[in-house]
Amino acid sequence: MPTLSSRTAGFTDSVIRRMTRISNQFGAVNLSQGFPDFDPPKAILDRLAEVTHEDFHQYSITWGAQNFREALAAKYEHFAGRAIDPNGEIVVTCGSTEAMMAAMMSVTNPGDKVIVFSPFYENYGADTILSGAEPIYVPLIPPAFTFDADVLEAAFRQHPKALILCNPSNPCGKVFTRPELEIIAELAKKYDTFVITDEVYEHILYQPHRHTYLATLPGMWERTIQCSSLSKTYSITGWRLGYVIAAPEIIETVKKVHDFLTVGAAAPLQEAAVTGLRFGDDYYTDLQREYTEKRDLFLRGLDAIGIPHTVPEGAYYILLDISEYGFASDLEFCELLAEKVGVGAVPGSSFFKEPENRYIRLHFAKKQKTLEDALSRLAGIRTEMPVRQR
Ligand code: GLN
Repeated sequence: MPTLSSRTAGFTDSVIRRMTRISNQFGAVNLSQGFPDFDPPKAILDRLAEVTHEDFHQYSITWGAQNFREALAAKYEHFAGRAIDPNGEIVVTCGSTEAMMAAMMSVTNPGDKVIVFSPFYENYGADTILSGAEPIYVPLIPPAFTFDADVLEAAFRQHPKALILCNPSNPCGKVFTRPELEIIAELAKKYDTFVITDEVYEHILYQPHRHTYLATLPGMWERTIQCSSLSKTYSITGWRLGYVIAAPEIIETVKKVHDFLTVGAAAPLQEAAVTGLRFGDDYYTDLQREYTEKRDLFLRGLDAIGIPHTVPEGAYYILLDISEYGFASDLEFCELLAEKVGVGAVPGSSFFKEPENRYIRLHFAKKQKTLEDALSRLAGIRTEMPVRQR
């Protein structure tokens, strides 16, 4: 038997997606992998039904269908305040997962360093390793998940090729403030570094927090590779529609990587999703109101049970502090939680570089009924979960 590539030896399968399988095995309410259990907007689904009988069954243009890119450019200009060229500054990808990987492969050479804030969405570690790059982790310090500017500058002094910025942030729910983004931008310019952003939660925000597109800060358009997707904004995670927005010289390279990775995103789904990209402001206001109601319902429930937790400023994840249970392994805690309490969660350690074991992550992108069911199960956590003495 010949040996397999050593490329994947440095990481396991995704713990987030593994927890979905474990939740299903125990019939738990799955609040691990972040995806909604409610329907996407009806207008998008109605258009999808029509599209099945129209001529969208062959490849679209490899970097995205023309009308999709045009609708996306108009939406981007509306929210970010910058006019972009739909023909030269966008590549449509198979989810932001591909967008991030294509961005990493476009920017880094093997051996290059990449700054990653910790906690981080687990794909960034694997993306870095698959590209042959080396992560430099900079902690976001709880409870506010702020960074120390001196520690960040020390990381920049190691001459990284890029920094990865997830804003609003998965899993800690942080929305980076403009002053924080200005510090990152100044360092990126001073040390001549790219920034790869993951902005998939750009529309999931809680008052008074606002999203600032890093690329709109002075001097940042040229060095920011923006990745985002339609998954969270339009509740269509299974459609795998994402994109990269960047300056034309960068996009030329991203196009090549994307072309050979996947050829293109699904043509019929791009056509149907154009409907969503053309929604007016009301859609986004309603989305924020609905997510605020879900967040508040879930936080109230957790407070009534008495579980300490973070309060997200954006995105739809909450970190619960489980230190009172004294488990040495948060993965074991999550497995038992799925089995005994009937709620699926992700062990916090899969997001932290530091040896952090006191958090589990739940998400609340679910119907009110699902959240109430999860809360009533979690009410039994103290009787069902053992306390381990360390
Ligand atoms: N981003 C979501 C999460 O963190 C879904 C991850 C995935 O499986 N693509 O849970």
